[in-house]
Amino acid sequence: MSERFSEGFYKAIFEGCSDAIYVIDPQSSRILDANTRAWTDLGMSRERLLQHSVISLQQGVENEEHWAQIAEMIYSCHPQAFTFIGRHYHQHGTYFPVEVYTSVIEFEGQPLFLSIARNLDRTSSQREAFRTKDARLTYALNEAVDGLWDWTIDTGEVFFSPQLKRMLGYLPHEMEPTLETWSEAVHDSDRGRVMAALDEHLSGRDDSYSAEYQMRKRDGSYIWVRDRGRVCQRDEAGNPLRVVGMVHDITRSKGLEDQLREQASHDHLTGLLNRRAGYIHFSKQLSYALRYNQSLTVCLIDLDHFKNINDSFGHLAGDSVLKHFAGLMNITLRKSDSLMRWGGEEFLLLLPNTEVASAVKLIGQLKEKLADNPAELESGEQISYTFSAGLACCPLHSQALDALIKCADDALYTAKGSGRDTILVSDESGIEQPGLF
Ligand code: GH3
Ligand code: MG
Ligand code: MG
Repeated sequence: MSERFSEGFYKAIFEGCSDAIYVIDPQSSRILDANTRAWTDLGMSRERLLQHSVISLQQGVENEEHWAQIAEMIYSCHPQAFTFIGRHYHQHGTYFPVEVYTSVIEFEGQPLFLSIARNLDRTSSQREAFRTKDARLTYALNEAVDGLWDWTIDTGEVFFSPQLKRMLGYLPHEMEPTLETWSEAVHDSDRGRVMAALDEHLSGRDDSYSAEYQMRKRDGSYIWVRDRGRVCQRDEAGNPLRVVGMVHDITRSKGLEDQLREQASHDHLTGLLNRRAGYIHFSKQLSYALRYNQSLTVCLIDLDHFKNINDSFGHLAGDSVLKHFAGLMNITLRKSDSLMRWGGEEFLLLLPNTEVASAVKLIGQLKEKLADNPAELESGEQISYTFSAGLACCPLHSQALDALIKCADDALYTAKGSGRDTILVSDESGIEQPGLF
């Protein structure tokens, strides 16, 4: 080897290259070596980079099994380079678009992968990428926030943009370009509704298609998307030929929306509906009962001497007792019944399609269940407690929500006055009578 072609000469070329170069172990995807451009582009030291693998560096590559499939693709392209436009993540959490060429090389009898990654954000190469319309489009499709699809109806072929694939955790060469790929990714519980929405548009009843649904990612988890599309080409008879659309990931806002809705309507300690949401639920149940001539029993429950529990065991123990009560009731009540936290240690129980006599019986059973299952503190200490209940029934006592609550409340008040641990039923004239239990 002449002086000019010494090891140092090749090292200078390797290090001086304006694109990132990675030498990768095809088996494990570990980075065996990389040039200065590679580790500076990723914002890490060389030592740090050499502790990584493609799996840990490239967001779209999920696990060893996924890597094995990619490695197979790379081998199958040989002697051509396997090419794709993707994203590399910078240490700081930002990312940049890259065009990656991976080829198979052999060193000392062992195959190695050589990846050259061109950072498309760097101005000189960006100018180059923008020279042609196709390159501009490729760049735009890769970098768009929304994923794009383009469906040719008669062939069933669907183009999925790189961003759409990335949203679902796929790499650019993955996802069969067919309608089945899409429809199979739509969550089972959403598919009927989504297909119906698409059909409404294709048949001309809606002038565009729009749906929110869950889509399965490569790893089996789901994201929420807002999908909107429109027919962009028709035949002479007006039948749709081609539809294009955009998919937007709304998982974050959907999660936040659900969380806010849950927080606004539920009591955080017991997980039961709170009083505000309980009122709305109650009025719906009442309308239903009146419309279908069914009885609805309302029961106000108040834990007895609850203040003593707080005073003797502490406020946290009091909280545990409230949770214990809600939990025990939830597993004991029927599916159609609903228990709400009405205030402090007071609960409202709605028993749809239930007459007074069976309601009293049911609440009596709840009492027995509670007597057999005292609350247990973390210390192992057991707390036995009881409750009093006041009942009113629609239509027997009233058909109005507030009047029913008032009747139940009065009955509860009397139950407390008569020694607690009692169930009392209100009557139409407002005179409470002892329950059947
Ligand atoms: P009664 O049998 O007449 O219902 O007596 P009581 O002690 O159960 O009723 P009282 O209204 O005197 O006291 C209720 C207590 O419940 C007072 C309040 O501090 C407590 N409380 C209300 N909400 C909570 C809560 O979320 N956690 C705890 N630990 N205590 C609560
Ligand atoms: Mg009480
Ligand atoms: Mg009370």
